[in-house]
Amino acid sequence: MSALPPLVDKFGRQVTYLRVSVTDRCDLRCTYCMAEDMEFLPRKEVLSLEEIDRIASAFIRRGVRKLRLTGGEPLVRRGIVGLAERLSRHLDSGALEELTLTSNGNQLAKHAAGLANAGVRRINVSLDTLDADRFRSITRWGDIERVKEGIAAAQAAGISVKINAVALRHVNEDELESMMLWAHGAGHDLTFIETMPMGDTGEDRANHYLPLSVVRGRLAERYELTPLVYSTGGPARYFQVEETGGRLGFITPLTHNFCEGCNRVRLTATGQLYMCLGQEDRADLRAVVRASEDEGMLDAALDEAISRKPKGHDFVIERGASSISTPRHMSFTGG
Ligand code: SAM
Ligand code: SF4
Repeated sequence: MSALPPLVDKFGRQVTYLRVSVTDRCDLRCTYCMAEDMEFLPRKEVLSLEEIDRIASAFIRRGVRKLRLTGGEPLVRRGIVGLAERLSRHLDSGALEELTLTSNGNQLAKHAAGLANAGVRRINVSLDTLDADRFRSITRWGDIERVKEGIAAAQAAGISVKINAVALRHVNEDELESMMLWAHGAGHDLTFIETMPMGDTGEDRANHYLPLSVVRGRLAERYELTPLVYSTGGPARYFQVEETGGRLGFITPLTHNFCEGCNRVRLTATGQLYMCLGQEDRADLRAVVRASEDEGMLDAALDEAISRKPKGHDFVIERGASSISTPRHMSFTGG
């Protein structure tokens, strides 16, 4: 274990969770996440797998216990399974508690066994609908059968799958209950996410913003929702649904301030460390790793960055006002 001090910010919050966006690219174009004609980063701007390993390992030395690979779509990054295999040395040593991914599931069937071999035990799959036509329309061209095959392959490989669904007014609003019944029936936890105002997608998000307090209220009329203390270290609040026996989570960055217990930071594909998902301040760790092999310099850069972690975000979605409070897309910072 590390003799180095943990990363604690000026509000006393210890950083134990790092999310790494391994690419800004994606094989889908969900309408709430990306514009159809996205411009992606030139490859030389993107961290190499070795650089990602080096930065992630520096965080792990400083007490990060949970690492999530995300994107963009992490499974479109060439060598992603190899990266997971290399990072798994930290699982073997006990320094890292969990190595996990968030994926759209589109290429999961191909990679599930390799990820399981690398020690991945849980994975989040984003799926906003169970209807094939609707899925195609939300993702602009996705095939839901591929995602279902990916989920089945992950389960067969011994990886437990949590489903994440963005709740969207007039889009999947009528389906949220049936998604819960499907997910719980298949042994998946399900988490609903509120739309966040990140990046221009060519649409006004206020049209599809659905407060999860409304969703929860509707479900509570028909189901008994018992609050759970269970936490995955993320910002979701969980309930046990007594009728299904399953767990239901709500991520409500807009209706609830989830910042007080924030234990996480995010590394973009270009090596920018964002200390808060909803703020612009960042630290350029790519410049640090490209300037020197000296781990001491990297450590000092982590300390300096964490000392700037802000108290919280300022997301707002208001009709008529701009529905973009952060110019970055979620796929850039890493959802
Ligand atoms: N491509 C992977 C996926 O879809 O799971 C990982 C990256 S994606 C950016 C991570 C999560 O962010 C997904 O669950 C997605 O639904 C969610 N997301 C993307 N844009 C969002 C937004 N503007 N508001 C809320 N959630 C968003
Ligand atoms: Fe791609 Fe994930 Fe964004 Fe959808 S939510 S466009 S799958 S990065």
